Amino acid sequence: MEKRQEAGAEEGTETFQMEMDSLSRNEEFARVVVAVFMSRLNPTLEEMDDVKTAVSEAVTNAIIHGYRKKPGKVYITCSISGRELTVTVRDEGVGIDNLKKAMEPMYTTDKTGERSGMGFSFMEAFMDRLEVESCPGKGTTVRMKKRIGG
Ligand code: ATP
Ligand code: MG
Repeated sequence: MEKRQEAGAEEGTETFQMEMDSLSRNEEFARVVVAVFMSRLNPTLEEMDDVKTAVSEAVTNAIIHGYRKKPGKVYITCSISGRELTVTVRDEGVGIDNLKKAMEPMYTTDKTGERSGMGFSFMEAFMDRLEVESCPGKGTTVRMKKRIGG
């Protein structure tokens, strides 16, 4: 078969980026878009669900904690390199003071009792790799990687 290199694409890597308003109704939108993008790797339903859950957790965090439900932008970048999917979710919100503590299971700053403090734990469990960078007052970047299809 002819090997074809499309314009703009780095050899072997495909990427896409989006920017969206920090609205709760965009959580579903974000995870569906990522799911459609990753479908070119022929993931299993389980792999697809894992990624959707992780993306949802990261986007929800950006909206409710990062921006405290105020207007802002959530930036999502996805890339596929070989069989590896990388998803980055970034906000320019309040940032996290104590990242180590924030990433502990069941740690939450939520006072309403609605949240269980398991978001980061889910991202860690459902993806192969999780990296979080945060700067108080500047924002938070969550980078997650998962190998799809063995
Ligand atoms: P759950 O995800 O189970 O609903 P949660 O969001 O509190 O609860 P995590 O997602 O694990 O739990 O996040 C832990 C804590 O880290 C949050 O309570 C919040 O204080 C902080 N945090 C997480 N993401 C961000 C973010 N993008 N910006 C600011 N703070 C964040
Ligand atoms: Mg959360």
